[in-house]
Amino acid sequence: MNLENLVIVGSGCAGLTAAIYGARANLSPLVIEGIQPGGQLTTTSHVENFPGFPKGIGGFELMSNMRLQAEQFGTRFLSATVERANLRRKELFCGDVSIRGKAIIIATGASPRLLNIPGEREFFGGKGVSVCATCDGIFFKDREVAVIGGGDSACEEAIFLTHFCSKVYLIHRRDQLRASKIMADRLRANPKIEILWNSVLREICGREKVTSLRLTTEKREWELPCNAVFLAIGHSPNTQIFEGQVECDGEGYIKGEGVRTSLDGIFVAGDCCDCHYRQAITASAMGAMAAITAERYLYE
Ligand code: NAP
Repeated sequence: MNLENLVIVGSGCAGLTAAIYGARANLSPLVIEGIQPGGQLTTTSHVENFPGFPKGIGGFELMSNMRLQAEQFGTRFLSATVERANLRRKELFCGDVSIRGKAIIIATGASPRLLNIPGEREFFGGKGVSVCATCDGIFFKDREVAVIGGGDSACEEAIFLTHFCSKVYLIHRRDQLRASKIMADRLRANPKIEILWNSVLREICGREKVTSLRLTTEKREWELPCNAVFLAIGHSPNTQIFEGQVECDGEGYIKGEGVRTSLDGIFVAGDCCDCHYRQAITASAMGAMAAITAERYLYE
């Protein structure tokens, strides 16, 4: 078994910023990258609100830069996923490999929520159901597609899809968007986007691929012909492996006092503990705080 100074679980904004700070503090951190190296931002086409990039920067490029920066200062990376944990012993298990840390930062992020409706699983991955317009939008060039949700993600996905698709329906369950004003204005100004208000997706229909969506409003049930549906209905924290070991709220977000969890030497940062802000910059800020707090804990 390896005993590390600082183990960081997750390689999104929170994890990589923690790694930069931890490495610069000479802790030689080990980052366990997880199933999506670089985290959620790698699936975002263009990041406009990360300070320091007045023209914006690609999500993948931003995360590659963060990784490089962390590596330059001595971070080590393990391409693996934590499958089990014994947090009291500060022990993590990736397959047969067991890793112990004197301190651990949990930065496992969050994953897109699904609707759990008929057709969703059947058509997922290449057949017309997706949670990532940046990844899959190109496959629906000149087609009609739909986006579900009314937040910033849904608006962003819908606008992005207009670059390829002939028409984009934004389907929202209420009569008001949750998105920020700037995103909502951009959405409304886009002639390729039609918003379907007070509409609930009940079923995704098709044979081999998606051909239509069954929708209901308060008064009617109808079928909307379309070739793909992009779900943008928020995220759930990736904390299942820590369930019952560290204090979480009802939705699974890890609770903490700042970046300290209920367990000594276990720290937390980013979307797995933040259900309010969920921004790249706030995740990064928490990553920096977690590394600084872990450093103090180790040298106390
Ligand atoms: P969100 O703000 O939580 O919005 C989720 C949307 O999905 C809401 O409109 C919600 O409807 C809808 N929804 C949730 N469950 C649903 C269900 N079962 N069926 C149908 N609709 C459902 O999530 P988000 O858009 O992913 O944004 C998360 C955070 O990231 C926010 O803080 C956002 O500002 C930020 N973000 C920022 C940017 C940017 O600045 N460019 C881009 C993306 C995300 P209700 O409105 O009825 O609840």
